[in-house]
Amino acid sequence: MICTFLIPMNENKQEQKWIEFSIEVDQDLADMVGNTLIGILPAGLVSERVFEDVFPHELDQVSGPIRIFGFYPEEDDLIYRDRVLKALNILKEKVDLPIPVFSSLENKNWTAAWQERYQPIPVGDRLIVVPSWLENPDPDKVPIFIDPGMAFGSGTHETTRLALVMLEMCLIEQDHSEMIDLGCGSGILSIAAAKLGVERILGVDTDPEAIRVSRENAKRNNVKKGGTFHPGSVQEILSEKYSLPKATLVVANIIAPVLEELFGEGLGEIVTPEGHLVLSGILEEQLPVIINCLEQRDFEVKKTLQEGDWVAVLAEKSTA
Ligand code: SAH
Repeated sequence: MICTFLIPMNENKQEQKWIEFSIEVDQDLADMVGNTLIGILPAGLVSERVFEDVFPHELDQVSGPIRIFGFYPEEDDLIYRDRVLKALNILKEKVDLPIPVFSSLENKNWTAAWQERYQPIPVGDRLIVVPSWLENPDPDKVPIFIDPGMAFGSGTHETTRLALVMLEMCLIEQDHSEMIDLGCGSGILSIAAAKLGVERILGVDTDPEAIRVSRENAKRNNVKKGGTFHPGSVQEILSEKYSLPKATLVVANIIAPVLEELFGEGLGEIVTPEGHLVLSGILEEQLPVIINCLEQRDFEVKKTLQEGDWVAVLAEKSTA
């Protein structure tokens, strides 16, 4: 599920009853419809793709309808319904649109509806991924505040969860003071590592938007020191452009065919001898290829974790 925009709720209206407005449109119309409605609805507007479980990297390759939905107070139903319909009617002169759906949230208030949809997700033993507008519900856990549904890794995708669990296990068993996060996305793995005690972290991503989002999320999570995010990939790291040319711990949650390519570009070389590599984003049937890549470069597979069809691997590099 992908949230493309989201406005925090109005705190004063928690006890109010709400109407949910929703319309499903083709992907190419979503921005137009969203932009038209975003100024009209008072409490929030979200767009989500009407399909589940797509790896962030695959988003460009999938298409599907987008559901745009938002909420407004029931007592102002006439006013807002009129505004929404008028705005959509103007658009309808240019494009075909389906009939929107208005439904009462019954006994739920908007906050409840919102929170039901987006809950904090405990991950591993110590971590909890918390939607950024909520408090950490469990003071014994280490919170990572991230907007759910973000295209760059929000903790809800299996591959991110597996990478987080593997990272946490690795940091319990070994001391690592430095880490490279290859394909940092939202920065979620870097933020987790920083909060679990890793002092120097370099996050890189080929998508400049991911770098902007990672920096923002790091700031929001008070990861002030030690985390830097830059555009690029293995080659930029190897060329010593950034703070760490290699590290004792490297994490990469990227689809397996890209991981395979990255091995060809020197992924193995950015891990120091005796260092560890956490790989996620691997479908079960792709595992043999990745294990082969690892063994050819003197890595020994120490652990694998599986959730559904997805597998994550922890490998250790030999001393040589
Ligand atoms: N690390 C995050 C994001 C994973 S999504 C998480 O675990 O949730 C994969 C990320 O890898 C995307 O942000 C994508 O832009 C990035 N990526 C894809 N190909 C890459 C490459 N060749 N080098 C570096 N980053 C890449």
